[in-house]
Amino acid sequence: MAAETWFDTREELADALALGVTIRRAEAERMRTIATWAASRTTSQRGPARVLPGQERRVPFGGPGSPDVPEFLPAELGATLGLSAFAAQKLLSDSLSLVHRLPDLLALLEQGEVEAWKVRMVAAATRELPQSVVGIIDCQLAAPARRGAPPRIVRLTRSTLQDVVDHHLLAQADPAQTTDVHHDAQARRYVAFKPGLDGTTDITGTLSNEDARRLEQHLDHTASEMADIEGDTRSRGVRRAEALGRLVVHPGLAQTVLYVHFDRVSGTWSADDIGTISADEAESMVGHGNITIKPVIDLAAEITTTGYVAPPRLREQLKLSQRNLCAFPHCDRRGTTGFDVDHVTPHDAGGATTTSNTHLLCRYHHRVKTHSQWRAAKTAPGVTTWTSPTGQVFEVAHGLTTRLRT
Ligand SMILES: [Zn+2]
Repeated sequence: MAAETWFDTREELADALALGVTIRRAEAERMRTIATWAASRTTSQRGPARVLPGQERRVPFGGPGSPDVPEFLPAELGATLGLSAFAAQKLLSDSLSLVHRLPDLLALLEQGEVEAWKVRMVAAATRELPQSVVGIIDCQLAAPARRGAPPRIVRLTRSTLQDVVDHHLLAQADPAQTTDVHHDAQARRYVAFKPGLDGTTDITGTLSNEDARRLEQHLDHTASEMADIEGDTRSRGVRRAEALGRLVVHPGLAQTVLYVHFDRVSGTWSADDIGTISADEAESMVGHGNITIKPVIDLAAEITTTGYVAPPRLREQLKLSQRNLCAFPHCDRRGTTGFDVDHVTPHDAGGATTTSNTHLLCRYHHRVKTHSQWRAAKTAPGVTTWTSPTGQVFEVAHGLTTRLRT
């Protein structure tokens, strides 16, 4: 009985194995199709050959030696395949790299011999390398270690494959032992504090690039939120310094925003389902004191302003009604940092700064909307309908994308 079960399982796995080969072949074909499509597309701007700032350029997504293709293609590809802009750009880049720089590895995928993630990993890791070096890597990984053995890449695990690629990246990047230099520099990191008599302390120090990048991103993010949401008008430097302070007072603690109704007659706050509430009560309710209390925003209300710049309250309303996501189909960028308030009908074409004529877009999709043939219409609060340059129609409602017409 046991032997019979084992035999059945092997039979079923033989099917799984065959289907795996079919999937690999289909992946190769999909990437060839995408690369061919991309190379045939032209940029959206017409007229002068000179590209103005913000307009669509042509970029070699696949790395040196791959064809330059229009910069906004990931927007169309992502919307069509249901991928975020990041995932779409990665798929496009990998497709172009494999077709134009790694033909041997792509051939292995086409024969069903290797998993797609492996060849895509090589494509991504070697993107910045010159074509001559990539050609060697392609040849080495696709060749068998010895006669009759499978190609090298088939036998490598994720980490050993990474080692092989890293070896080439290092050989390319460090004529003089970059590793030692890095090691010495990391050993010299420090942080020093020098308190002054005026109530402030000077901080100096050296961090790893990675830590410094993360810290600066956090400070910028909090500083932008203080300006956009809390209406803090102090300089960016002061807000960044305060953001660092908040990090220490409430380490790792996200700020809680509590939306309350304000009763002008009695001068009291009340929260939904709770009734009248004081600041102390709010603190004990959420378990910590890092609370911002804000009046409830009616997501259906039409907020209007006469100027071009959206007031913090409109920004906050858009953020809430879009679930903190960019309003472009399938875009999964979150947060307020780098998000632009886009006038659906441009301001200089008479579009007002109102709830019904604005939405939040990430910087990339703001440029796509401004400089390409994508057209948007705001159909309800938190709902934008998009028409792609090729006539596909999508509805993005509160962060969820639906394809309405192809
Ligand atoms: Zn976006």
